[in-house]
Amino acid sequence: MNDLSTPRAVEPAAGRIEPIVLRERGQREVFCGLTGIVWLHRKMQDAFFLVVGSRTCAHLIQSAAGVMIFAEPRFATAILTDRDLAGLADAGDELDRICVTLLERRPDIATLFLVGSCPSEVIKLDLAKAAERLNARLFPRVRVHNYSGSGIETTFTQGEDNALRALVPTMPATDERQLLVVGCVADVVEDQLVRIFADLGIGPVRFLPARRARDLPPVGPGTLLLLAQPFNGETARALVARGARILQAPYPFGAEGTTAWLRAAADAWGVDTERFDAVTAPGIARARASLERARERLSGKRVFLMPDSQLEIPLARFLHRELGMSVIEVGTPYLDRQMVAAELPLLPPEATLSEGQHLERQLDRVRAAKPDLTVCGLGLANPLEAEGLTTKWSIELVFTPIHGYEQAGDLGGIFARPVERRERLKP
Ligand code: SF4
Repeated sequence: MNDLSTPRAVEPAAGRIEPIVLRERGQREVFCGLTGIVWLHRKMQDAFFLVVGSRTCAHLIQSAAGVMIFAEPRFATAILTDRDLAGLADAGDELDRICVTLLERRPDIATLFLVGSCPSEVIKLDLAKAAERLNARLFPRVRVHNYSGSGIETTFTQGEDNALRALVPTMPATDERQLLVVGCVADVVEDQLVRIFADLGIGPVRFLPARRARDLPPVGPGTLLLLAQPFNGETARALVARGARILQAPYPFGAEGTTAWLRAAADAWGVDTERFDAVTAPGIARARASLERARERLSGKRVFLMPDSQLEIPLARFLHRELGMSVIEVGTPYLDRQMVAAELPLLPPEATLSEGQHLERQLDRVRAAKPDLTVCGLGLANPLEAEGLTTKWSIELVFTPIHGYEQAGDLGGIFARPVERRERLKP
């Protein structure tokens, strides 16, 4: 029998040392893709997310986005009943009725996402067909898309990838040369990036997703993709299939990551070094200064990143290179080499890179290593804290603006705060 947790060397790329990958398969501890609705619905202000799922799905979304109960919600769950699950009722007819009623009540909704879940997949409810039927009835007033947020074989950030991937076929075609930033970033980050690109003379610049889901950016052979999140691999490949080209770069986390990311676009646009340095120098200086406090707190400390958000590889690079942390293990739910090609060579060679999860074995490694900080999913944080380990929930990294120069200090603070708190509590 093949022991899947045995480290295996990977094919080294020409002239580059690649880390050895520990591949594990076993029990996993991650949220499902429905979680993405929490940040996606904040970004796309004309979109509604209708989960077709169970009461469990409704509870997950409601508690993850708890504060939103006071606003007019733009997400809901169409709950599959026992009759639906037993195949005694026509769930398709019922779903059409619910959607039409919802859209009559909510004229502000221009885009409806039907979001599949574990139960809808188990009973093979065809949401693609439902979207087709509803589009025939409702388009152009409303465009209906469908994607899966199910927890079967996914991690929670794949919800965003699946949602954005669903938009790609309906994006208009263009031959225009343009920069397309792919991945959900907070509006404040988008505004900062727009200003920097304008100062660099790079444009037009568009974002996927846009603030209004209806304003789909065009795509075509002149489109250069700058990836803002490492988990949107399927979306990136769908855009490439429509003629776009990926600009390989590290992700814009920290001063170094943001500069390298901007430089990839600047090189493609032929921006000269003098102009690039003049535009980026103030941001770099502010970012470095804002990281000082976290660096003082974390430099020389040891971090273990468990696989959860799919942000682990770029964050390990940031923690090591900008905050001076020593990385014991970087876990990633799956290793999409195309998406992290510029990040892998920047990881410290002594760090273990692990893909997938065998929870018990990984917890044994955490306990043996006794890291100063463990970055992990919510479900693991409390038990590990109870064992005396200091933890940081990785889900906070997708709910908080962390991209770009102005957010570098906040990103450092996310990791420094739990270590500070633990030190204050020391007897
Ligand atoms: S989609 Fe699956 S994993 Fe997610 S809340 Fe629903 S039942 Fe649970």
